[in-house]
Amino acid sequence: MVVVVDTVSATPLRPRHPEKVNRPDAFSPPKPDWIRVRAPNTRGYADLVTVCEEAGCPNIGECWDKKHATFMIMGDTCTRACAFCNVKTGMPGALDGLEPEHVAEATLKLGLAHIVITSVDRDDLADGGAEHFAQTIRAIRARCPTTTIEILTPDFLRKAGALEVVVTAKPDVFNHNLETVPSRYLNVRPGARYFHSVRLLQRVKEIDPTIFTKSGIMVGLGEERHEVLQVMDDLRSADVDFLTIGQYLQPTRKHHAVMRYVPPDEFLGYEKVAYTKGFLMVSASPLTRSSHHAGDDFARLKAARAAISG
Ligand code: SF4
Repeated sequence: MVVVVDTVSATPLRPRHPEKVNRPDAFSPPKPDWIRVRAPNTRGYADLVTVCEEAGCPNIGECWDKKHATFMIMGDTCTRACAFCNVKTGMPGALDGLEPEHVAEATLKLGLAHIVITSVDRDDLADGGAEHFAQTIRAIRARCPTTTIEILTPDFLRKAGALEVVVTAKPDVFNHNLETVPSRYLNVRPGARYFHSVRLLQRVKEIDPTIFTKSGIMVGLGEERHEVLQVMDDLRSADVDFLTIGQYLQPTRKHHAVMRYVPPDEFLGYEKVAYTKGFLMVSASPLTRSSHHAGDDFARLKAARAAISG
C-alpha cells in the first residue's frame, strides 16, 4: 500500500471517535524489534494526502516512495466503529457524484498499472455505496483500460442486491477482510457478522469465477491458533484465492489493546499451513497489510492461476 486520495474534507468540530472517548485507556505491550519500521520522511510522503497516517499503517514510508495507490472513496467518515480502526466514526455526507471521474483522472495522471479502491462503510446508503463502487470501476476502465483494479469493500450487510452490482462492474480483484476470528467479532468488529463476510466472498466467486478473491485478518487481538486455522478453512470453503495475515497495531489507547505481538516464525508457520490448504497466494508477516504490494501481488496471482490451469 498505499496512497489515499480523500476527496471529502475533515470536520474537526466533533471528536473523531465519539463512541470511544469515554472508554478506559487500553495499554499494549511495548513493540518488539521486529515491528519497528523506518520513519516516513520521504518526498513521496510529503507530497500526498492520505488516511494511511490515520490508520497508522507501518508500511507508509515504503509505499509512498513507490507511489502505490489506494483511493478511498465515499468520504472519510464511517458508519461503523470497529475497535481496531482509526477512521472517523459518524454520519457521512452525501456522495460526490463526480468522484468516480476524479478517481479515473488521477489514475491516468499517476500512470497507475494497478489501483486499489477502498471505502468507509456506508450503512446510511440504500445500496451501501455499491453503485458508486461500480461507477468508479467503470470510469477507470473507460480512461485507463490497461490498469488492473482491486477493490477492498465493506460487507454490504443488509443491502440486498448490492454485491451483484459491484461484481458486475468486474474488478480484477475483490478483497473483503474478515479482520479477525469469529470469537473476537463482538469486541473487534461489532457491526459485522463473520459468516455474512465469508458468504460475501463466496458469492463473488459464484457470480464471476474469473475475479480473484482476497481476504485478510490481523493477529494479536486475542485469537487462538486453532481459530486462525479455522478461518483459513472457512475462506477456502468460499474459494478465496489470496490470504493476508498481519500484526494488529493499536492506533490510540482508546482502541483495542494489542494482546500479543506474534513473532515472525509463527507468521511463517501460518503461511506454510495456508499454502497446504490451497490458497493461490499467502502473505503472512508482522507488517503484512491488506493492500501492501497489491500490484506485484496481482501479477503473482495471475501467474499462480495460470500455473494451475495450464
Ligand atoms: S467498517 Fe472499515 S472503515 Fe469503518 S470502522 Fe470498521 S474497519 Fe474502519
